[in-house]
Amino acid sequence: MDAYKAMMFRVDILVMLIDDQAIVGKLIQTVLSNHTDISFHYCHNPEVAIDEAVSIMPTVILLDLLMPNINGLELLKKIRQNEIIQDIPVIMLSTEDEPHTKVKAFECGANDYLVKLPDKVELVARLRYHSKAFIHKLQRDKVFEALQKTQAELEKQNIELLRLSQLDGMTDIANRRYFDECILIEMKRAVRNQLSMAVVMLDIDHFKPYNDTYGHLQGDDCLRKVANIIKQQIHRPADLIARYGGEEFVLLLPETGLEGALAIAESICKAIANAQIPHESSTTAAYVTASLGVTSGLPISSDTPEQWLHQADAMLYKAKALGRNQVQALALQSI
Ligand code: GH3
Ligand code: MG
Ligand code: MG
Repeated sequence: MDAYKAMMFRVDILVMLIDDQAIVGKLIQTVLSNHTDISFHYCHNPEVAIDEAVSIMPTVILLDLLMPNINGLELLKKIRQNEIIQDIPVIMLSTEDEPHTKVKAFECGANDYLVKLPDKVELVARLRYHSKAFIHKLQRDKVFEALQKTQAELEKQNIELLRLSQLDGMTDIANRRYFDECILIEMKRAVRNQLSMAVVMLDIDHFKPYNDTYGHLQGDDCLRKVANIIKQQIHRPADLIARYGGEEFVLLLPETGLEGALAIAESICKAIANAQIPHESSTTAAYVTASLGVTSGLPISSDTPEQWLHQADAMLYKAKALGRNQVQALALQSI
């Protein structure tokens, strides 16, 4: 138990004394030698003091105020400017007990001031106090740094999770849930700003026979190809394409009138056909085609996304009924 207590109490205190007088070094070394948890380093040459401090990293520095060649205050300023050791507590040691000298020392960045030679108990108490404060600061900095790292990592993971939760796993475009969130927001914005918007529904023609002929895996592959083709026809950053259901896709085109929406829908329809993905069991063409329904207009506040989707779906149904591989559109004033 005693050994355990001693271990808990033990902290690595390393005192560095910078003083040109060897006798002071000797005296302080003698005082500290009675304390097993305190190590001592004596530097008699102020010219090399900074380099030595950087290499041994003391937990407290005792600095003589008056030394030949270099003034203690000048050295203190240099310590405070050194990126590596600037936070180490410095206790000035001086024979002078003048208030203005003390003020100067504190102005230069001293943490404490002791008149030479201080009482043993007071000296050790102050060395311990400043060292522990410094050690605790280092520990806090380390924990804070680790916390910041973890937080940054978490934020990155959250962004990735959010992105994944918005995506359709198979086609890598937005999923229906994300689309439903977006259309609601976009609709409100369009009402508020009196802007038109368009919704386009797309359904692959004869996809059931495609699966029956080529198998479900190739069916999936076809869905990915169609998703990519649609993506390539969308150029505005605000446009959204989502997988709405099995082989159905939906587009949300903000600030787009009927003419613009029709042009995009036509280009998608053509691009899918032009890709010439073989489909031998289609009764429409020898390759995969799609039908599209478009609605566009100025939404009013009582409109709901469901109404707009329903109208786009009705146009899609019309395109199917009129022979597939085509676009049908309806301009809406208000649904
Ligand atoms: P239509 O031209 O009238 O649209 O005919 P269709 O055969 O495409 O229409 P229907 O809605 O009857 O069939 C849709 C098919 O899409 C049925 C289903 O097997 C297939 N399907 C739905 N989701 C997926 C999927 O994730 N992967 C694959 N491979 N097939 C799917
Ligand atoms: Mg369908
Ligand atoms: Mg279909």
